[in-house]
Parts: sequence; C-alpha cells; structure tokens
Amino acid sequence: MSAPTTGTRNAVYQRDERRCAACGVMVLTFQHRRAVGMGGSKNVPSPVDGLSLCVLCNAACEGVLQAQALRFGWKVRRWVTHPERVPVFYPLEMAWYRFEGVIRIRISRAVAMEMGCGVYGAEWLLWHEAIA
Ligand SMILES: [Zn+2]
Repeated sequence: MSAPTTGTRNAVYQRDERRCAACGVMVLTFQHRRAVGMGGSKNVPSPVDGLSLCVLCNAACEGVLQAQALRFGWKVRRWVTHPERVPVFYPLEMAWYRFEGVIRIRISRAVAMEMGCGVYGAEWLLWHEAIA
C-alpha cells in the first residue's frame, strides 16, 4: 500500500466533512485502514481504504487507540481484503456508516453488527459486547 493519489485523499476528506472522524479537528491526515506493508507495495489505496484523522488520532491508532480503531473500523486486520465490508463508527455523530466508493452511507447499529460479524465473526461480537 503506497500513498493515496491526491484525488483519493481529497475524496476521503470530503466524505468525512473535512474533520477528524475521531475528534473533529480540521487538520487532516490520511489514515490507512489497512496496514501499509513493510517495504511498500504498488497497491494504491482506494477511498474505502482511507479515513480522515488528525495527526494525533492517526498516530494513536497505532498505539493507545489501537483496540478502539479496530472496533470502530478505523483500522482493519491485515487479512481483510475488502475494507468496505467493515463498517465505520463516527463517535461525534454516534453513528455507523459503510463506505461505498467515495461516499458513506449511514447504517443502523444492527446492520453494522451484521457487517462486522460477517468479516470478523465472534471477534467482532466480543469487541462490541465489551462496550455495550
Ligand atoms: Zn483527531
């Protein structure tokens, strides 16, 4: 996974209303939902691979926020081949979304659970029962 194109980066920022999905700050970085491979890959990320996060939240996704980032779909496990199948939670809106191309579609918590379980199975249930 290499750097996103300028078009993809802008589309992701626009989709996320030009604010950090986690905290609302308006100075943005492109969070790669899928881990960027060591040594770099020729795989250019698409909009569903990306999330708008500020530099602090982006860094925290690799550290203190790592568990939450997985639970909220800000990051996906390395083996996930279709990141658009993992729903994304926007805490400022208290709402779940799924990504489709350059847009996001609001979904119910039930649909998010269904999508998450479809990808992660029991692991997703465990993550979400823990905070229910
Ligand atoms: Zn932030």
